[in-house]
Amino acid sequence: MTENPTESKPESTQYDYSFDYIQKKLEGKKDSYGMLMKEIIRAGICTECGTCAAVCPVLEWDHLSGQPKLVGKCTGCGICYNQCPRTITDPIQLMGEFKTGYVSNTNIPEVLGGQDGGTVTSLLCYLFDEHLIDAAIVSMKDPDNPWHPVAQIITSKDDAIKASGSIYSHSQTVEALMDAIREDYRSIAFVGTPCNIDAVDKMTNSPAGMLKYFMRAHILKIGLFCMDSFAPEALYPFFENDGIDLTKVAKMDINKGKFHIYYERDGEPVKSYTIAQLDKFKSSSCNFCTDLTAENADISVGSVGSGAKKNTVFARTGIGTEIVEDAASKGYLTIEPYNAINLNAVLFLAKLKKVSQYNIQKRKVFIVREPREVEEPRVETKPEEETVAKPLGSRKFLSVSKDIDEGEKILKISLTNSVGYILEDIKIRVVIVEELFEKKPWITTIRELFPFESIDIGYPLETVDDEIVYSNVLVEASTEKYGKIFSRTFKLAPKEEK
Ligand SMILES: Cc1cc2nc3c(=O)[nH]c(=O)nc-3n(C[C@H](O)[C@H](O)[C@H](O)COP(=O)(O)OP(=O)(O)OC[C@H]3O[C@@H](n4cnc5c(N)ncnc54)[C@H](O)[C@@H]3O)c2cc1C
Ligand code: SF4
Ligand code: SF4
Ligand code: SF4
Repeated sequence: MTENPTESKPESTQYDYSFDYIQKKLEGKKDSYGMLMKEIIRAGICTECGTCAAVCPVLEWDHLSGQPKLVGKCTGCGICYNQCPRTITDPIQLMGEFKTGYVSNTNIPEVLGGQDGGTVTSLLCYLFDEHLIDAAIVSMKDPDNPWHPVAQIITSKDDAIKASGSIYSHSQTVEALMDAIREDYRSIAFVGTPCNIDAVDKMTNSPAGMLKYFMRAHILKIGLFCMDSFAPEALYPFFENDGIDLTKVAKMDINKGKFHIYYERDGEPVKSYTIAQLDKFKSSSCNFCTDLTAENADISVGSVGSGAKKNTVFARTGIGTEIVEDAASKGYLTIEPYNAINLNAVLFLAKLKKVSQYNIQKRKVFIVREPREVEEPRVETKPEEETVAKPLGSRKFLSVSKDIDEGEKILKISLTNSVGYILEDIKIRVVIVEELFEKKPWITTIRELFPFESIDIGYPLETVDDEIVYSNVLVEASTEKYGKIFSRTFKLAPKEEK
C-alpha cells in the first residue's frame, strides 16, 4: 500500500504522553525472571499459582520449594512477569487513569513562594477569580503549634496564597469540608493528600457514602502526590533535639530521597536528612498506602519528575482538564506537555510505593528465657507513681495479651506497639506475685518495637511435680523517655476453669 501524500502526520501534542503512551512504554519493557524472583518470590508474595511455569518452556514448578525453577536459558522475554497475578504491569494500577499530563508552574508573582511550582495555589486563585468556587479547603500552619497543620475553610485568593506550602503530616481536611458544607458553601475546592481524596471520593461515590445523593455542594478534588507523612509528636522533638528551632523554619521539602529544612524559603537548607533516617517517624498508615498520585482526584499535583519550581500535573476528569487549561489560557499558569522524563520518574516512584507494602513484615519474635535473679525482688508490689509526663494523653503505648502454653508450661505474653512510631529500649519486667511478695523476677529489654509490631515473650511458669502452679503474674513495661507505659497483674488459671 502506498502512502497518501496528502495525508500529513498528526502534530505532536501533550496527548502523546497520555495513557496510551504509558501502556506502550510498559509493553515495550523487557521484564525478566530475575525481576519476578526479586519483586514477587523473594518478597514472599507469590501465591504459588504456577502461572509463570505454565507459560514458559524453561520454567518448571518446583514442588519441593514451592517456587518456579529455571531449567534452561532465560531470554528475558518477560512473559512470565507479565502473566503473574502479583506484578504491577498496568499503568492504571500504577498511577490511576488520567486524561492529560502537564508540567506546570505559576505565573502569579505572589505565588512564587509555593511549595514547588505553585500550581495548586494558582488554580485556587483562578477558581476564586472566576467565581467557580465559593470556598476552598486548605491546610495552614497552626500559629500556636509550629508546623502542625490546621485544615481551614478559605474564601479568598489572599488566603489561598497564605496557605501555600506543604506540611508533611496528616491534616484533618474532611472535618473542614463538612463544616463548609454545613455553612452552605455550594462549590468547594478540596486540597488534600491521596488518603484525604479517597475519603471524599468514598463519601461521594460509595453506595453508603453520605454525600452520594447530596445535591447542595459540588466538590472539586485537588490531590497532592504523596509518598509518606510523618508523626509530628515524634518527628519534631527529634528535630528540636538536633538543634532546629521550629519557629524559625520557613519551609520543609522532600526532594530526591532527602528531607530538607530551610530557615529562608529560597536559601540553603539548614539541615538535611535522608528519608531512611526519618523512617521511624513515619506515620504508620503510610506504610500501607499504595497511592502516590491521588488517583481519585480531579486534578493531581506533585513535584516528582518536573524539576525545580515546577509541578507534574495529571488532569483526570473532564472538569479537571478544563480547569487546568482555562487557568493556563487566562495566564495563571504556564503548562507544557508532559514528557518521557517526567513519566519515568513518576512510574518509578509509583511502583516503589505500590510494592513497598510487600516488604512490611510484622516481626513476631518469641523469646523464652529462664528466670534470672537479675534484681532484688521487691517486697511489696504497688503501683508506682508516674514520673514522666505522657505525651499521648490516655492513648495506650502497648497492648498486651497473655496465653498459657500448658504443654511447654510457659506463659506467652504478647506485646504490641499500639502507637504509630517506634518505641525504643522498652524494659519488660515479669514477676510472680504471691500476696505482697514477688518471686521469679525476669527482666529484658526490647531494643525497638515497630509500629503495630508484636513480640511474644515466653515466661516459664513455676511448677511443682511437673504441674503448673497458677498464680498472679505482674507484667510491667517502661521506657526511659516515657516512664512506665504498662503495668498489669494477670490472674492465671487452668484453661478449662476459665
Ligand atoms: C504529606 C505530603 C507528602 C508529599 N509527598 C510528595 C512526594 O513524595 N512527591 C511529590 O511529588 N509530591 C509530594 N507532595 C506534594 C508536594 O509537596 C506539593 O504539595 C505539590 O507538588 C504541589 O505543589 P505546589 O507548589 O502546587 O503547592 P502549593 O501551591 O504551595 O500548595 C500546596 C497546598 O497543599 C496544602 N497542604 C499543605 N500541607 C498539606 C497537608 N498536610 N494535607 C493537605 N493539604 C496540605 C496547602 O494548604 C496548599 O493549598 C507531598 C505533599 C504532602 C502534604
Ligand atoms: S524466558 Fe521469558 S517467560 Fe521464561 S523465565 Fe525468562 S523471562 Fe520468564
Ligand atoms: S505467576 Fe507469580 S504468583 Fe504465580 S507462581 Fe509465578 S511468581 Fe508466584
Ligand atoms: S502516604 Fe498515603 S496515608 Fe500517608 S499521608 Fe500520604 S496519602 Fe496519606
